[in-house]
Amino acid sequence: MPKLVLAAGKERSVLRRHPWVFAGSVERLDGRARPGDTVELVSARGEPLAKAAYSPRSQIRARVWSFDPAETIDDTFFKRRVAAALALRQGLPGLRGQHALRLIHGESDGVPGVIADRYGDTVVLQLTAAGAEKWGEALTGALARATGCARIYERSDAEVRRLEGLEPRTGWLRGDPAESPLVIEEHGLLMEADFVSGHKTGLYLDQRDNRRLCRELSSGRDVLDCFCYTGGFSLNALAGGGYSVLSIDSSATALESARRNLQLNAQFAQGRVEWRQADVFEVLRELNRGERRFDLIVLDPPKLAPSAAHVERAARAYKDINLFSFRLLNPGGLLMTYSCSGGVSADLFQKIVAGAAIDAAVDARILAKLGAAADHPIALNFPEGEYLKGLLCQVG
Ligand code: SAH
Repeated sequence: MPKLVLAAGKERSVLRRHPWVFAGSVERLDGRARPGDTVELVSARGEPLAKAAYSPRSQIRARVWSFDPAETIDDTFFKRRVAAALALRQGLPGLRGQHALRLIHGESDGVPGVIADRYGDTVVLQLTAAGAEKWGEALTGALARATGCARIYERSDAEVRRLEGLEPRTGWLRGDPAESPLVIEEHGLLMEADFVSGHKTGLYLDQRDNRRLCRELSSGRDVLDCFCYTGGFSLNALAGGGYSVLSIDSSATALESARRNLQLNAQFAQGRVEWRQADVFEVLRELNRGERRFDLIVLDPPKLAPSAAHVERAARAYKDINLFSFRLLNPGGLLMTYSCSGGVSADLFQKIVAGAAIDAAVDARILAKLGAAADHPIALNFPEGEYLKGLLCQVG
C-alpha cells in the first residue's frame, strides 16, 4: 500500500483525530496512488497513523477513513460505517420515524465526502471527494441493504467537487426512475422535495427543527420569511397561527413549489400569505422606508462566505440584513437569524449580529443559540462540521 508521509510535527492533527490532511502537511508519497486510492498515513518518523483517501488535486490532500492504521478499507468497512450512522439516528427518538432525514453526514459520520439523505423511499447520495467517489458503488449497495429503500438517486453536482477535480454526475443508481419532486412529511406538514433539481439534495433538512420552532413562536404574529426557498418556515408560521406571512425568495422555481406546498397544507393555512419574487437585500431596504412592521422575522440566507476569502464581504452583507431586520421589528419582536457559511464562526456571527443591533439602535437579547438538527451532527474532532449557526433574538 502507498504511504503518504507527513512532514515532521504534522502528525499532531491526525493524532487529535482531525480527518483532513492538507497539502502543506505532506512530505511525500512513497509508491503510486491514483485519486481516491487508499493510502497509509505515516508520520515523518515512519509510525503508521491512519488509513486515508488520497486526493492529489485537492488542497485537502487526504481524508481519513480510519484512525486505526490496521483497518482494511473495503466494501465491508463501508457497510459498517453506513450501519453505524443509521443506528445512531435510530437511537434518537426525535429522528426515529422521520420521513426525510440525513442518514450520512460526511466527516461527522466517519465517511468524508459522503452525504446521504432519505426522502421517503428514495435515498439521495452526494459524493464530494475523490475517496468517496471511488467507493460510490460500495456505498450504494450498503445504503440499499441498510435502508431497504428501493430507489437511490445520485446528486453529485455540488460545486466543491471541482476542488477535487471531479465532474458533476447525477442519475439513478438503483430502482425504477421516479418523478421528482416527491412529497415528504416534516413534523406533520407536507413538503415537496425536488431531489433532481432542488437545492442541496432537495430540501434544507438541517433547518427541520428550527422550522418547527418558528411554528411554536408564530401565533398571532406578522411574519417576514426572508430567503424562503420552498416556504418551509412560512408554512410553519401559518401552521402555528401566524397572522400574516410575507415570504421572499429570488427563485421563481422555489416559489412555485412554495405555492404548491401551501395547497398541500391548505387546512393549516388560515393566515394571509404573500410570496414575493425579489432580492431580499432590496426588499428589506424598501420595507425600511415604509410603515409595515413585523413580529417575527426569519433570515436564512444562502452561504454568503463559502470560504475564508469571502468573509469580509459576507460580514457586511450579514450585517446589512440583520440591521434592516432589527429596524422592522415591533417591540418584543423576534428575529431568527442564520449563517450557513463555513467561513463565519459562531463567534463572529454573534459579533456581526450584535453590531447590527447597535447600528439599528435596538436593545436586543439572545433567547437561544440554534444549529442544525441532530441528523447533521458535529463530530468533536471536526469543528468544521459546525457550519449552521443561528440566533433567536428578541428586541426590547
Ligand atoms: N429557509 C429555507 C432555505 C433557504 S436557502 C428553508 O428552510 O427551506 C436560501 C434561499 O435564498 C434560496 O432559496 C435562494 O433561492 C435564495 N436567495 C439567494 N440569494 C437571494 C437574494 N439575494 N434574495 C432573495 N433570495 C435569495
